[in-house]
Amino acid sequence: MQKKISVLDVMIDAVTMSEAVSILEQYMSEPKAHLIATANAEMVMMAQQDKELAEVLRAADLIVPDGAGVVWAARYNGLHMPERVAGYDLVQQFLAAGAKKDYRFFLLGGAPGVAEKAKAAAEFRYPGVQIVGTQNGFFTKDNEKELLDRVNASGANVLLAALGIPRQEKWLYKNMRELNISLAIGVGGTFDVMAGTVKRAPLWMQQANLEWLFRLVRQPQRALRMLALPHFVIKVMAQKTLDKSKLGIL
Ligand code: UDP
Repeated sequence: MQKKISVLDVMIDAVTMSEAVSILEQYMSEPKAHLIATANAEMVMMAQQDKELAEVLRAADLIVPDGAGVVWAARYNGLHMPERVAGYDLVQQFLAAGAKKDYRFFLLGGAPGVAEKAKAAAEFRYPGVQIVGTQNGFFTKDNEKELLDRVNASGANVLLAALGIPRQEKWLYKNMRELNISLAIGVGGTFDVMAGTVKRAPLWMQQANLEWLFRLVRQPQRALRMLALPHFVIKVMAQKTLDKSKLGIL
């Protein structure tokens, strides 16, 4: 069992990318549905207020450190978080691994047409990959039963859900028992990047922990949401000071 690190009470798995892929492969051989979340600062901050999201995250089988912020927070507290495991990269690695196995992916989410474009991109990049169904993320409660039936009829054993945080995590948690899948992963904006509708930051910016800045410049409408980031940093620092004073160190 890998080590879990608490970042503002969200338990994040201290795993490398290759360990995360191996864990997902292990889950594929088990007969129950597993829930995977990809945590960034925004998700952790949301979980401070949103009790339902916090509960779903407590029930998740694996939470990877998707954002540079959560990696920083763990290290700031002197804990060993080996590396960032970005959800987008994890999905790419898992699609590549799945192309050689009997993994059948269903892509749920994104604006109309995006999941289909992401499917085409995956089929081009990972020859042999089985994408057995797609559905945009703007369905209503009335279509939900039909959607669950469609996922089951497709034979999918992996459901990738890009419905935005926290809808994707809550939706998967609520519905995964109805589905004959082994894995359910909340993947945020992954289909947009695969489809080419959103560009990912260049590698040097990712490596310099500046992906947030790239997103802010390219999608200024995210500015309000991204205020979660400085709030997160302040809260992590305050928590450490509080913990130290409780221990009598300050
Ligand atoms: N989305 C959706 N249904 C909704 C809300 C959002 O399918 O009701 C999609 C949206 O089109 C986008 C993804 O969810 O493709 C979330 O993207 P975002 O950039 O917010 O990702 P995050 O920051 O959560 O990783």
